[in-house]
Amino acid sequence: MGEHDLFEAEESALRAAADTHALDSLDARSYRDALGTLITQFRRLVRETRRVIVHSDRQERELNILNARLTQLAAELDYKARHDALTGAFNRRAVIELTEAHLRDDGIALIVLDIDHFKRINDEHGHPVGDAVIVELVERLRTIAPEPVEIGRVGGEEFTVVLPRMDLQTAVALAERMRAQVAASPFDTPVGRIVTASFGVSFTPSGGTFTEAYCSADAALYEAKRRGRNSVVFDVGAS
Ligand code: GH3
Ligand code: MG
Ligand code: MG
Repeated sequence: MGEHDLFEAEESALRAAADTHALDSLDARSYRDALGTLITQFRRLVRETRRVIVHSDRQERELNILNARLTQLAAELDYKARHDALTGAFNRRAVIELTEAHLRDDGIALIVLDIDHFKRINDEHGHPVGDAVIVELVERLRTIAPEPVEIGRVGGEEFTVVLPRMDLQTAVALAERMRAQVAASPFDTPVGRIVTASFGVSFTPSGGTFTEAYCSADAALYEAKRRGRNSVVFDVGAS
């Protein structure tokens, strides 16, 4: 409904009242009738205005609720885009982004680790049990990783720990504690089984890239596997 239609009755009543007001020789009855029409239209106007205000208040409240939900959904979407659903660790893309962000300002140490003979666990106990091992492994890493914890899942059973401003020696000691924590006691699932992982550690100075940091740590990890697994190797390129 257009503006013209909405106020047509009021405009007409106003015009009639103005015409009546302009005349100074009308009888009381005519003034009374004109006032009566004005009262009727004014009441309608008040009623309509109240209805419109209530309606717009309700719409504003609904809009606020929708807005809050939208903000929450955007945050959830952002979280899901950056995290692995199984473990809650950062996903590969997020690991690359945060590593490169750190490297713009600082040197970083990077730990890359991979579960030993994980295929056997899947083959012997099934895929869901393999998943449970992955979850418990990340929980064990979390108990040791320094705050803010930057554990990433960069492959099926391969993980990273990004350590901004940490020197190689400290990172190697940390990786050794992580290795020991994983291997120290049997996992909850499968009951009683010892799980081990192999670790590679690198240090990359400020200005380096994720690929440099990752390749160096991955080469060290490969060497740890070659040496018999359940061990920590660092900086193979420099040694
Ligand atoms: P290595 O000690 O040399 O690392 O041996 P491995 O058996 O751990 O390595 P391999 O690369 O041969 O096998 C890795 C297996 O991990 C194969 C794949 O099916 C399994 N895998 C990858 N992602 C997942 C996952 O999300 N859940 C489960 N349950 N298994 C996965
Ligand atoms: Mg493996
Ligand atoms: Mg692997």
